[in-house]
Amino acid sequence: MKYLLILGDGMADEPVAELGGKTPLEYARTPHMDLIARDGCMGMVRTIPEGFEPGSDIANLGILGYDPRACYTGRGPLEAASMGIELDTSDIAYRCNLVTVREGVMVDFSAGHISNGEGRELISSVEDAVPSASFYPGISYRNLVVVHKGAGAVTVPPHDIVGQEIAPFLPSGPDAGTLFSCMEKSREIFAGHPVNRARIASGRPPATQVWPWSGGKTPALMPFARKFGRRGGVISAVDLLNGIARCAGMEVIRVPGATGYLDTDYQAKARYALGALGHLDFLYVHVEAPDEAGHLGDAREKVLAIERVDEMIGTIMDDFAGAIAILPDHPTPVRLKTHTADPVPFAIHGKGRDETTSFSESEGARGRYGMIGATDLLPLLFS
Ligand SMILES: [Zn+2]
Repeated sequence: MKYLLILGDGMADEPVAELGGKTPLEYARTPHMDLIARDGCMGMVRTIPEGFEPGSDIANLGILGYDPRACYTGRGPLEAASMGIELDTSDIAYRCNLVTVREGVMVDFSAGHISNGEGRELISSVEDAVPSASFYPGISYRNLVVVHKGAGAVTVPPHDIVGQEIAPFLPSGPDAGTLFSCMEKSREIFAGHPVNRARIASGRPPATQVWPWSGGKTPALMPFARKFGRRGGVISAVDLLNGIARCAGMEVIRVPGATGYLDTDYQAKARYALGALGHLDFLYVHVEAPDEAGHLGDAREKVLAIERVDEMIGTIMDDFAGAIAILPDHPTPVRLKTHTADPVPFAIHGKGRDETTSFSESEGARGRYGMIGATDLLPLLFS
């Protein structure tokens, strides 16, 4: 038997007035998701354990069978894995944003969504600035810094403190000294940097410094194949998820045209999924677009993104005979434009049926499986 898990990032929501009091999942035309619900069984899954941030990294670790309470070490090491950076056992990898701080206030956590080329130039300019740290350019404002012989630090995500004074939110703990040096050196070097002079001249915010956060060591994940006795793979345009896959020894399948945004090529994902299922036992297909629509607060766009995910599922189902699970990782309500930690509906097709008739939040709550934890999901699918 082959197994497929389709994850629509942030699909779950609340009733929206603009959609006649329906949720985007209820409102969207989703014949294939509804078929999965009708011929399968539903339930609700709590993907974010008590006390954790409702992030895709936390939720997806759990869904792939790894309890974040036991193994989550931070976002930095997962992105390092995705970028192919090998960490030493004493290395701590931190996410390293390029940010705009003005008069001690965090003005922009992304330095105006700085371009890849500009970001790369700025990060290379601080490369040798702090002996105990190595910088790695990533995508846009999302870079990495690795502290050697590190021991961790308490940090704050820069997107949580936009508009606030940074002083109370500086890193604390064993690595704080090195992280302060990184921030200080970047402030000095970035101040007169040609990239920033050009940005200021054209009215764009300069990247005034780096902001390290969410550091940790490489998480120790038991290889997926050993844990479940099945060869697994992941299709996602999101670094964090590819990082989890690498750490779990799963195959990472890159799909040309998968952007992680609303214009992603859904049909290419379907074709690559079918191709990968030729040699894999389990494939996890992640689609980011509904989450992006949620962050934009755009209910219509979210409905469209969900309908395109459904078409992708249709293309896959035409040529796939195994068991299928479908779910979001967390809600991203358009009203809030951010994630919440509420449980989400899931459906499994190919393991019997219950009374549910369509894929939605309210139907999930009526499903036979009841409320489960994230790490219970794959065992249900594989049972
Ligand atoms: Zn999101």
